[in-house]
Amino acid sequence: MDLNLTQDELAFRDELRVWLEANVPKDWDEWRDESLESRFDYLRRWQRKLYDGGWAGISWPKDYGGRGASLMQQVIFWQEMARAGAPPMANVLGLGLVGPTLIAFGTDAQKKRYLEKILSAEEIWCQGFSEPNAGSDLASLRSDAKLDGGHYIVNGQKVWNSYGWAADWCELVVRTDAAAPKHKGLTVLLVDMKSPGVEVRPLRQMTGETEFNELFFRDVRVPVENIVGKVNHGWDVAIGTLMHERGTFGAGLQVTYKRTIDRLIELSRTVERNKRPAAQDPLIRQKLAQCYAEIEIMRLNQMRAFSRISATGIPGPEGSILKIFWSELNQRMQQMAQEMLGPFGQLTGSNGHAIDKGMWSYGYLRSRGNTIEAGTSEIQRNIIGHFVLGLPKSY
Ligand SMILES: Cc1cc2nc3c(=O)[nH]c(=O)nc-3n(C[C@H](O)[C@H](O)[C@H](O)COP(=O)(O)OP(=O)(O)OC[C@H]3O[C@@H](n4cnc5c(N)ncnc54)[C@H](O)[C@@H]3O)c2cc1C
Repeated sequence: MDLNLTQDELAFRDELRVWLEANVPKDWDEWRDESLESRFDYLRRWQRKLYDGGWAGISWPKDYGGRGASLMQQVIFWQEMARAGAPPMANVLGLGLVGPTLIAFGTDAQKKRYLEKILSAEEIWCQGFSEPNAGSDLASLRSDAKLDGGHYIVNGQKVWNSYGWAADWCELVVRTDAAAPKHKGLTVLLVDMKSPGVEVRPLRQMTGETEFNELFFRDVRVPVENIVGKVNHGWDVAIGTLMHERGTFGAGLQVTYKRTIDRLIELSRTVERNKRPAAQDPLIRQKLAQCYAEIEIMRLNQMRAFSRISATGIPGPEGSILKIFWSELNQRMQQMAQEMLGPFGQLTGSNGHAIDKGMWSYGYLRSRGNTIEAGTSEIQRNIIGHFVLGLPKSY
């Protein structure tokens, strides 16, 4: 692929750069101490501003509120967000998973109804896939939906549901044919989280936050027009969503990682190690440079994946390579931060001595989940082994 930007791409980049310089809020770091809900509201307002400026959904169709630009311009967008030190957007799963799934599998009516409100953050989305006995082996899920006139009646339980507490809508996978082989009888439904019978119960993580939840569905009525794709063919739709989660979703993470490494490099000049600035410690210098290089590798790999998706429209199994890379890279970077910052790095926000209001202890603890969410590293390696390298199945 050609990594040089075309004239159009350069014009796009320059226009965006000017807009970001004028509009990126400067106080996001000061919000670290605030509650999960307040921080979410802040990011929601920021996303709304991007949307009003015409910068949400760069590669989404114009008819549905997007900019209709190329995937490469989408990549430039994330790079410029990182360069400007911009906060991330609020509707993470709507933008990264549900929107692309609806663009690929949804009806025109569904695209009209949902896409623009995802971009404006007017409606927040969550993903109801995992169950207590169905994570890596998602197809063994048991939540079911039975047809009753113009509605499906949904019963079951989901778990580890990120943003469930904030969500207006859920992309839910349910079993609609119990007699069919396990991959065949599944259907994807769009469920209004305010429907009677939906209960959201927070789960407390080791970070202390309740970022994700258990969801309970008791006789929840979902209109048949909320089916995505075909009845009993939900596996194809769910895999489409997961391919985006593993393939394109990580693009936005580069913004966060770049901010993290820039801040670590800055801190290395003042934090002491063996009575001199950490930046003068050969081991720390090696590790900082290694992380910096890996973030650049992540960016280039993403560009390669995006250019391949431009040709086919759908991410392929090689998205698993990106997923392993970003998740394990963040764990290495957070581990390195702890080594460099020493015990002060472990203090939390409420303690006056904590560095950066405790973001390093939070970052370290939160990174442990990276190699589990969106499919564990073992599952990604199985996918790469089987679908990319053509090796026999592991089971
Ligand atoms: C931070 C976070 C956010 C999440 N958000 C969501 C969300 O929004 N929506 C949602 O639906 N889910 C979400 N999840 C759930 C996530 O998708 C599952 O946790 C994940 O798929 C693993 O499933 P499990 O927890 O049931 O583990 P299991 O599937 O029980 O796996 C247990 C262990 O066995 C290993 N293993 C299992 N099968 C194999 C195999 N065939 N070969 C080799 N090793 C294997 C796994 O790698 C793992 O180490 C989230 C998880 C986390 C940590």
